[in-house]
Amino acid sequence: MHVEVRGLNKHFGNFHAVKDVSFDIQTGHLIGLLGPSGGGKTSILRILAGLEQPDAGEIHFHGKRVNELAPQERGIGFVFQNYALFKHMSVYDNIAFGLKVKKSSKARIKERVTELVELTGLKGFEHRYPHQLSGGQRQRVAFARALAPEPQLLLLDEPFAAIDAKIRQELRTWLRELIERVGITSIFVTHDQDEAIEVADEIMVINQGRLEQKGTPWDIYKKPGTPFVASFIGESTVIEQAGSLRGFEEAAGVGTRALIRPEYIDVGPSEEFALLSATEEGIVKHLHFRGSEWMVEVQVGDQRLMTYRSLEKSTLEPGQQVRVLVHRAYLYNEESSWMVENP
Ligand code: ATP
Repeated sequence: MHVEVRGLNKHFGNFHAVKDVSFDIQTGHLIGLLGPSGGGKTSILRILAGLEQPDAGEIHFHGKRVNELAPQERGIGFVFQNYALFKHMSVYDNIAFGLKVKKSSKARIKERVTELVELTGLKGFEHRYPHQLSGGQRQRVAFARALAPEPQLLLLDEPFAAIDAKIRQELRTWLRELIERVGITSIFVTHDQDEAIEVADEIMVINQGRLEQKGTPWDIYKKPGTPFVASFIGESTVIEQAGSLRGFEEAAGVGTRALIRPEYIDVGPSEEFALLSATEEGIVKHLHFRGSEWMVEVQVGDQRLMTYRSLEKSTLEPGQQVRVLVHRAYLYNEESSWMVENP
């Protein structure tokens, strides 16, 4: 389903929770609504669902205005973080619930539940009750239940938040494949950037009620549209006076900050790097083992920068004098932001 939202606004009392939000979602896309707590993600989802009325703004599904439609008339499926399964119903009955409400025939219900049990990998669990399932299995039942009445749009509010890290990781891949197979337009709320980057076709970064940027995970990482997006996605260090960085004196005026990601810098032993002109002197502070690589923290002046080293290259030692080459930086001031390469 193609979703079109224009000029969405929502106040709770005096609090402006959603500020002039507009976007389009292509049919079949999986969109991650990403942002810090209290930013307005859930409010946007609830407005799309019809559980909350906007103060202003238009919502169109497939080109048709749905503002006046009740939630059950919008063709939407939901999955929430706390499963919200019916505890006294078996897996089968949980999945069948929406179909019974729609008064589907017994035969149709059986056929559809069987299909969904297969699709969500729950075969053999049909007669169990929610308390006899793991968290991950329960969440898969929640997905099957949401998909059973064949909704056109799936809304997911932190669907994996209550599940532990290892299973959450598996469920992300599982969700990606499920959505691809079903081909349903889906929007999921998360405050976990790794989850959004890994799972979503496109990310919408929401902060303080505003849509800061919408784009593919790659675009958002590579070309952050605002300083908030740049600092919220990925790891970085902010340098208050960008002009104090060697090589960036000319590119950065007064009041310009620099955001440096780990991959924007190279660190090397002083002897090797002394030949390069625009390097800074630094000292290795910490080496953190991250499983597949080392995170290196380097002190440069009064700044702590970080970068990564692959396993074979962990020849640096804490306390070692090094030279640091900042080969690019994301610069920004009150008015704008721009990416600069070290000349
Ligand atoms: P979280 O990740 O913590 O769920 P969120 O980005 O989903 O955050 P929302 O739940 O949309 O944010 O809330 C946005 C703001 O609106 C918050 O400051 C919240 O306190 C406020 N808010 C949400 N619903 C209501 C309500 N019914 N009445 C009053 N304030 C509300």
